[in-house]
Amino acid sequence: MMREARHHFDVLVIGGGPAGMAAAARAAECGVRVGIVDDNFSLGGQIWRGHSDDNQKHDKQGDAQRGEAARWANRVRISGVTALCELRVVHQPETGVLLAENLDGFCELTYANLILATGARERFLPFPGWTLPNVMGAGGLQAMVKCGLPIRGKRVIIAGTGPLLLAVAAYLRQHGAEIAVICEQASWGSLAQFGVALFNWPAKILQALQLKRDIAGVPFATNSWPVAAHGKKALESVTISRAGRVETIPCDYLGCGFHLVPNVELALLLGCGVRNGFGEVDDFQKTTVSSVFCAGELTSIGGVGLALIEGQIAGLAAAERTSEAKALFGDRQNARRFAQLLDRTFRLRSKLRSLPLPETIVCRCEDVSYSRLRGHTSWRSAKLHTRCGMGTCQGRVCGPATQFLFEWTPDSVRPPVLPARIETLAAIAGQSEMLQSQGTGEY
Ligand SMILES: Cc1cc2nc3c(=O)[nH]c(=O)nc-3n(C[C@H](O)[C@H](O)[C@H](O)COP(=O)(O)OP(=O)(O)OC[C@H]3O[C@@H](n4cnc5c(N)ncnc54)[C@H](O)[C@@H]3O)c2cc1C
Repeated sequence: MMREARHHFDVLVIGGGPAGMAAAARAAECGVRVGIVDDNFSLGGQIWRGHSDDNQKHDKQGDAQRGEAARWANRVRISGVTALCELRVVHQPETGVLLAENLDGFCELTYANLILATGARERFLPFPGWTLPNVMGAGGLQAMVKCGLPIRGKRVIIAGTGPLLLAVAAYLRQHGAEIAVICEQASWGSLAQFGVALFNWPAKILQALQLKRDIAGVPFATNSWPVAAHGKKALESVTISRAGRVETIPCDYLGCGFHLVPNVELALLLGCGVRNGFGEVDDFQKTTVSSVFCAGELTSIGGVGLALIEGQIAGLAAAERTSEAKALFGDRQNARRFAQLLDRTFRLRSKLRSLPLPETIVCRCEDVSYSRLRGHTSWRSAKLHTRCGMGTCQGRVCGPATQFLFEWTPDSVRPPVLPARIETLAAIAGQSEMLQSQGTGEY
């Protein structure tokens, strides 16, 4: 990559998942100059990660997704989008300029219109033993298997909440894992209501039936969650609470995630409004900052369908094709109702707040235990006194956990928004000093 270069685009998209790819393709098809940036080695985001790899060829459930992914990848390529992969945006040194880095150096990106499609991540909740090796996020474990982790013959427990658990269980099983049990914290009652409501989305029913076939015979426990993970050097067994009864199950891996939380950090850094934890947008996916749009799971957790629709609307609107964008409003409304259904069905029960013991680590980057945090009244106070959220992940893991455990709201975001190289930090510091000496510094 060009060291300290500057690239300009009419439309710049940050995030190469389904939302970002759809945004980039639709904008470029309108004839404007489009760039798309993603920190992975290829486009695809969380769901389409590694779809071009050979080891995916036996993944039956992924066939439809692979077709969809290939169609969008083609549109991105044919429409002339400039794809900048393995590049992460870490800072906004001045309005309209983004600083991005890779292993070789950093560059500046400028734009007329910007689309943020930074997606979501899993929510982790702390319980005794959750930091043991081989305890991972459910989606995280799937991602590691997609990247080559051998799973054949391994005994795996999948736990937490949300439809991702089923997708991950099906995927791991297809790759030779033995799924000991799937523990879903939601009740049978809310899952039954979810099933009935699915009749409003016939395509989702087909997906659900496919998943049911893929995990036929796997024990599925509702009202269930992990209470402790055990092992000397790595995970050996997990104690679960299963509809009120406690049992310990031997296993090699625990994949555990409590639904998803949006990656709003870059949007916050740019000054975009955030409502209820999600990027705030108008009908055209425009944020509260002029020339900045948001799309995909950054604005609501609604699956790949909603991400694609929102991405298209943002791409068309950024290319000033508002009437074409409007034609997608109805589809988006329908898909957003599904996002609301997911939110209702998989809302976390308050009982999960009692999972950590006093000595349970909550911030694993800075080794901060639950007992050190519970005396504090805010995220800010906890950060200042315990360094919670000040380690490598910058609160990405413990932030959503403490938000649920203590109802704290994370305060402002500071650059860099992702861990950055010393060279990039030095450039940021240099710019900050220059701004301060000019009397315009904000740090
Ligand atoms: C771990 C995980 C696994 C999942 N697995 C499945 C599954 O198996 N099946 C399923 O139906 N759904 C799955 N989902 C849900 C799925 O991700 C969404 O439905 C859909 O992909 C959302 O698309 P998106 O474009 O909004 O975000 P994403 O697909 O998350 O794409 C966002 C992209 O932006 C990149 N990015 C973020 N910040 C920056 C930055 N600062 N600089 C550069 N790049 C950046 C990210 O690395 C990512 O590639 C998963 C979600 C997660 C979190």
